[in-house]
Amino acid sequence: MPSHLYIHLPFCRSRCHYCAFPSVAVDVVPEKKYLAALLAEFRFRQKRWSGKVQPLSTLYFGGGTPSLFSPAFFSSIIDFFTQETGFTADSELTLEANPADIRRELISGYVSAGINRISLGAQTFSARGLRLLGRRHNVSTIERAVAIIRQAKVENLSLDLIYAWPGQSCDDFLADLQSLTILGPEHVSAYSLSFEPGCSLTEAVAAKKLVPVNEDLQLEMMRLLEVNLDKAGLYRYEVSNFSRGYHFQSRHNLAYWQLKDFIGLGAGACGGRRSRISPDHWAERYCNTSDPTLYMQHYSGADSSRMGARELLASPDCEEEVVDLSGSFAEALMMGLRLRVGVNLVALQHEYGRNMVADVISRAQHLAHEGMVGLEGNRLWITDRGLYLTDAITNRLL
Ligand code: SF4
Repeated sequence: MPSHLYIHLPFCRSRCHYCAFPSVAVDVVPEKKYLAALLAEFRFRQKRWSGKVQPLSTLYFGGGTPSLFSPAFFSSIIDFFTQETGFTADSELTLEANPADIRRELISGYVSAGINRISLGAQTFSARGLRLLGRRHNVSTIERAVAIIRQAKVENLSLDLIYAWPGQSCDDFLADLQSLTILGPEHVSAYSLSFEPGCSLTEAVAAKKLVPVNEDLQLEMMRLLEVNLDKAGLYRYEVSNFSRGYHFQSRHNLAYWQLKDFIGLGAGACGGRRSRISPDHWAERYCNTSDPTLYMQHYSGADSSRMGARELLASPDCEEEVVDLSGSFAEALMMGLRLRVGVNLVALQHEYGRNMVADVISRAQHLAHEGMVGLEGNRLWITDRGLYLTDAITNRLL
């Protein structure tokens, strides 16, 4: 059993205009039924996974909007895993929260349950931007939420930022960065707005009601992001993630980028493990149905402790995929190069063999001449110059 666990809580109060995450809008979250389903799914995954039980080193509650759930819900889950697997002494327990939900009793309840890291979806400090993105909160709500979180003695706070939304200028973005750094987060995740199929912002762009930020402006914003966060002591350790020193890097997300095994529970959650069974079965992953009703129907009625082999079925619509050697190698390179430290070529060679790595090194030499990658000793990384072309560079290396 892996030591990284992700739990997806796919419920929101309303849908944001840019959102492509699996979630549904509800007035009341079905806590009891969903909890039963999550625990039943864990039993199911446990039986399938087998192997030695390891204490959890990271547990991440993502969404959706986890802050719609009560502290008692998280207590039940954390108590359950304390019994089942235990936690490492320095385990990281993250909860994603919407500033609009933050109240004193709620946060102190989360902390008492065991949460020690909050990821707050600030997104922007512009009233115009928040309206455009369809967020439920306003600027003063973010500041109030941060004050409450700090009063509850949460010492690991991450703020999410979205930039390059239609109509945003560099001055607007600089004002955002200033407001964000004043709040002193230990971690920042900053993504440029992408227009995903089915979102209302995407439809508005298609109907020419909104104009996306052009590429030059986006590149300038990316530069401003790095310069200003660096000045505030937040260094970039991944393409879109910044932290106040090594200690505050997101250990849960590092597990994804370093392709460690992890379990995902919940509607819309994915999980994966490396399991080198044969050259055609190098790793495997799954993604649960994104429909919470279907998910709860499947799992919450099940007495999983008594499930026999015949009943051990994934929920309907669960996608399962086997990854072959070349797919796994491509993934290791792609994810590893997102990190500023890059990839360790000796470790890659150890895992995938001399030939595959030798090909990458020979292609990397051309890119190093162009100043896009660094290649020194055992390490290959993407330089500042190549940073905004990470995907294209990885494709050239493969
Ligand atoms: S709160 Fe998050 S998950 Fe929910 S609709 Fe907004 S962006 Fe999507």
